[in-house]
Amino acid sequence: MEKGKHVAPTDDKEMNVGVSTMNKVSAIFVLGPPGSGKSTQSRLIAEQFGLFHISAGDILRAEVESGSEDSIMIKAKIANGKLVPSDFMTRLLLRDIQKSGKKKFVIDGFPRSMDNLNALSSTAIETEFVLHLVCSKEVAIERLSNRNEGRDDDNIKTIVKRFECFESVFPVLECYEFKGKVYKIDAEKSKEGVMQDIKSAFTMHPRLCS
Ligand code: UDP
Ligand code: MG
Repeated sequence: MEKGKHVAPTDDKEMNVGVSTMNKVSAIFVLGPPGSGKSTQSRLIAEQFGLFHISAGDILRAEVESGSEDSIMIKAKIANGKLVPSDFMTRLLLRDIQKSGKKKFVIDGFPRSMDNLNALSSTAIETEFVLHLVCSKEVAIERLSNRNEGRDDDNIKTIVKRFECFESVFPVLECYEFKGKVYKIDAEKSKEGVMQDIKSAFTMHPRLCS
């Protein structure tokens, strides 16, 4: 994409939210397989550390609900466990970041491919660190089968596809690991146990513990 030129989400045509117009903001990214507890832990992190929580998956589900002209495309991607285009996803994230007026974020479920990471790197979002919620497929599938959040993609056919798609996050994690930015968290523990380990990661970043 041409530098400085941005295609805004459909309901936000005038908003230019690229690197040229937005002050830098910082984010902690929470990554892990489906069912590893990304959103659950991110909500707790937001509460505990006063960060603003943004969930990539929730943004997409809200877009579908809103019936925007992209909803058909998004719905199809989610149903097949595939990723929406990276530029599209970053633009939605930036829209919500700007709308919040905040500076520090916990973002869950993004970036989940190298293409996502490249798109992210051309934005004003700086990565503080990454929490990698490590969880076996067995435990994750059991959790997904037992939860009832009314998500259409929590069916076994789509769950299998979501796990296949999850593979694309590993090179992303490698890139961040190379920069020493990844904290691996055992996500098979209880909700409280996982949070305890996450808190330890935060102690290494005192300026985020506001
Ligand atoms: N998704 C996407 N790009 C993102 C995040 C999510 O395309 O950056 C889509 C993808 O189809 C994914 C779905 O949204 O399977 C649900 O994502 P979420 O993080 O809510 O759930 P997960 O599958 O990780 O449990
Ligand atoms: Mg989630």
